[in-house]
Amino acid sequence: MSGASAAGPIAVLVLLAIFLWLVPAVLAYQVGEKKRRLGLVWWGVCLGWIGLAIAAMVGDGIGPDAQRCPHCKSLVPGDATRCRHCAGELRSPLHGAG
Ligand SMILES: [Zn+2]
Repeated sequence: MSGASAAGPIAVLVLLAIFLWLVPAVLAYQVGEKKRRLGLVWWGVCLGWIGLAIAAMVGDGIGPDAQRCPHCKSLVPGDATRCRHCAGELRSPLHGAG
């Protein structure tokens, strides 16, 4: 006899997993990409919608006075003295070499 398989509950679980985990993970990826902080993706991956909310609230750490690193061209906070991406000095102190 060919009866219906017991795939019903499993399909529901898969759909639940996609909705509770995959969707917020993808959204967290987009948030992280926008803020240039892909580490935020892990919040969405680990905590689902809660993680996505956290990722959305976390600032990108770059204020309106951001400056561009002359070495790697990354945006860094305006008051930073050292680039967090390449560790290059941003504002050389009075150390002029003639
Ligand atoms: Zn740099």
